[in-house]
Parts: sequence; structure tokens; C-alpha cells
Amino acid sequence: MNANNQYEYDLFVIGAGSGGVRAARMAAALGVRVAVVEQDRAGGTCVNLGCVPKKLYVHAAEYGSAFAAAVGFGFDSSRPPLDWQTLQQNKDGVVAQANRGIEGMLSKAGATLIRGKATITGRHEVTVAGTSYSAERILIATGSRPFVPELPGSDLMVTSDELFTLPQLPTRALIIGGGYIATEFTGIFHGLGVAVTQAYRGNLFLRGFDEEIRTYVADQMRKKALDLRFHCQPTRIEKNVDGSLLVSFNDGSTGTTDLVLAATGRRPNTSFLGLEEVGVELDERGAIKVGEGFQTSVPSIYALGDVINRLQLTPVALAEAMNLVDRLYRGKKTPLSYELIPTAVFSSPNIGTVGLSEEQASEQYPDIDIYTAEFRSLKQALAGTTERYLMKLIVDANSDRVLGAHMVGEGAGEIIQGIAIALKAGATKAIFDQTIGIHPTSAEEFVTMRSKTRSINR
Ligand code: NDP
Repeated sequence: MNANNQYEYDLFVIGAGSGGVRAARMAAALGVRVAVVEQDRAGGTCVNLGCVPKKLYVHAAEYGSAFAAAVGFGFDSSRPPLDWQTLQQNKDGVVAQANRGIEGMLSKAGATLIRGKATITGRHEVTVAGTSYSAERILIATGSRPFVPELPGSDLMVTSDELFTLPQLPTRALIIGGGYIATEFTGIFHGLGVAVTQAYRGNLFLRGFDEEIRTYVADQMRKKALDLRFHCQPTRIEKNVDGSLLVSFNDGSTGTTDLVLAATGRRPNTSFLGLEEVGVELDERGAIKVGEGFQTSVPSIYALGDVINRLQLTPVALAEAMNLVDRLYRGKKTPLSYELIPTAVFSSPNIGTVGLSEEQASEQYPDIDIYTAEFRSLKQALAGTTERYLMKLIVDANSDRVLGAHMVGEGAGEIIQGIAIALKAGATKAIFDQTIGIHPTSAEEFVTMRSKTRSINR
């Protein structure tokens, strides 16, 4: 590490979210002089308005069906009412604890946390509340914010940000979008007892996921009496005198609801940073353009995480941050691999996925074999629900390598995380077959799929 004493700091990080905090901590721990500036709570979207409070809502929603399922196991139960304020307060407590934990970790690592809004005022200069700081390198890790489509009454919609401070749970909700946030919140609201409708503009939600998985999830959700509407787009939203919302749709229909959530993607946070003035270029999607080493068009300025819009996932931002610190301060220049990134949608039911979908694999490989297992779990047998599981492996028929693993069902994210390690290690289907199952689990199905469901050859 070569400290350049002509500057106050070696690394000045803008944004104390997942990527910024990880880069600041790792660099500071190596003796790098680091400052981090944050205008809001430490932890960014994931900790304050995303992954963490969302997962707590998911757990709360799971109790909704658990009370009904418990009857099949002999419990004499009826579903008690939800106290929304208690859930909010307890969730806020967890988030506040995480905020303090992050601040503590930064200070323990030796990084300075500065409060305020930052503007880049030079290639080596950041200004916060009238004070300018010089730094050898600047790292932009400002994340992203929800995008709200333009339509008459769009100001009446809320985004995922507001869902974490709702004063009360709505009775009815309409969710616009077919991605992660829309599908997760459809499940959350349903589990919490809200009459929810999810409206997606295309023919099938979760674009980009394996088609059989998307179709299966839609079927499972509909079996739970969830109202999914495809080819459906709001065209106007108006407020009724009683405060409810009247929504008009592209097919001419209308509906009344209490809350409309725009879960229609997120955009990089690049405004008001002074990027244009300093010469940092954006790409055609408005994200900061970076090369392999996360360097922007200005050599002393770097960017990573949602603001570069490669994959808007916390673990990806963390990996990018560690890769950058390795490059800048440890002399390791290995490019970050974006292959085989596992991901989960905490919808109801959950989806877990790693590697190629059937559609991607059949485009990239001449011969693929598909293995599937579709079943009702032991738990569901007594729970008396309609819920079933789907597991799927996609195998390159010529090398026997497993190219993709997908699952729909309880714990899908937990199970796929382990399978992702096997895929990273290059596991073949023969290795899966040689692995002894853990009985009785759902996960054992991944090592007991003996007969091919189908082969695709071109
Ligand atoms: P996504 O990109 O996942 O989905 C956006 C959805 O909105 C798509 O269905 C898209 O449709 C639709 N859409 C876009 N523009 C419009 C429009 N003008 N009118 C109507 N619909 C529109 O974004 P999310 O907001 O759901 O989530 C943001 C990111 O956060 C995700 O990409 C994900 O990376 C991350 N995230 C990850 C989670 C996890 O790991 N579990 C959980 C939550 C978020 P179309 O498909 O037709 O383009």
C-alpha cells in the first residue's frame, strides 16, 4: 500500500451501502486512509429499505399460512390478528441495530464516517456541506432508487421505499410489475391477509428466469387464490372521496384498491453528484460506465454496485468491492466472475436458481438433458395446502456438467446456495448421483433424479 500524502485520504467512498461499506472496511483494515460519506442511515438500501426488512416481512407473512397448516398437525388454532405496529417496531429495532453495527465496524476498521450529501468537485476532491476533502481515489457506491412509470395519477403510487414505513396495512393492494420486488410483495401482502392483485405488462412474469419455473410459480400462486393478471397495465389512477384509489387498466377495466405499488425496476443514483462536470461518463441506461477494474472514464474515480447496474444484488456489490480492494491495495488483478451467481426470489412459493435456464442452455449447447422432480413435501401432506415443489437440473449431455439448477418451494434459496458451490466446482450429473441424500428432506431430490425428463438436441 502506497499512501500518497499529498491527499487527506487514500480512498473516499461515496455511499455507505453494501458495496461502499465493504470496500471501506476492507481497505481501512489494510491501513488505507478511508473516508465514507453517507446522507442517510448506514447500510444503504439492503439494510434499510430492502433485503433485511423485506425478509422480516416475508417471515411474518409465512405465519399467515402456518397457523392454518398447524391444524393438520393437531393444533387447535385459529389465525390471530396481526398487530402491524408491533411488526414495524420490531423490524425497526433490527434495522437500527444493523445501522449501529455497520457504524461500529467502519470505525473499528479505522474508516471515518462523514454525514451529508457529497458532490464530486474535482478529480481528487469531494465536497460535503461546504467542506472539501482531497483523496487519491474516489469510489462512487451510491446505489439505485425505485423507478416510477409516468401515467396520470402516478404520484398516487408508492414504491418499495414507502412500504417500510406504512402507518397501517392496507386492506387491498395492487402491485405493478413482474420482477423480484413485485412478486415478493405479492406473497408478503397475501400472507399478511391483504387482498392483493399483481399486474404485469407481459405474458408471464419473472422475465429472464427459466420458463418452466415461471409458469410453475404462477400456477402455484393462482392455486393459493392469488390474483395474477398478465398483459395488464394501469393507464390512470384517481383518488376517490373515501381515500381509496380507482385504477383504470389497458383492457378498459377498472378496480378500486387502497394502495398501488410501483415495483417497476430501479435506476442508478447518479444525479447531483457532479459527474458531468468532472467528466464521469454514463452508459445508455444511465449507469456509470466502468472498465474491468471498476475504473470510470476519470482514472482516479471508481464505481461499483447498483450504480453501475450490472446485477442489482447485494452479494454482487460485496464481491465487486472486494475485487476492487484486492486490485488497488493487494496487487491482485483477477477479474470478477459474474458466472453462476445464485439468486432467490422470496415469493410465495420461493424460487432459488443458479446457472443457465433451459432456454439459455439450449441456445448455448447442442445437446442438453433436463431432469425434473415435482412433488408434495411431507410437511405439506399434513398441512393440507396446495403447495408443491419443483426441482430442475439442466445438464450438458456431452460433458455431463450441470449447467443450471432451479427450485420452487420452501427453502429454495437455502438449498440452491449449497448447489451453487457444486456448480462453481464444475460438478457433473454423475457427482450429483454419487452424492448420498439426507433423508427425509426436500433437498435430497437434487441427488436422486435418476431418469431424464427430456433431451433437447439441435
Ligand atoms: P426488476 O427489474 O426485477 O423488475 C422490474 C419489473 O417491472 C419487470 O417485470 C418489468 O417488466 C416491469 N416494468 C418495468 N418498467 C415498467 C413500466 N414502465 N410499466 C410497467 N412495468 C414495468 O426490478 P424490481 O423493481 O423488482 O427490483 C429491482 C432490483 O432489485 C432487481 O433487479 C433485483 O436485482 C433486486 N432485488 C433482488 C431481490 C432478491 O435478490 N431477492 C429482491 C428485490 C430486489 P419487463 O419484464 O416487461 O421489463
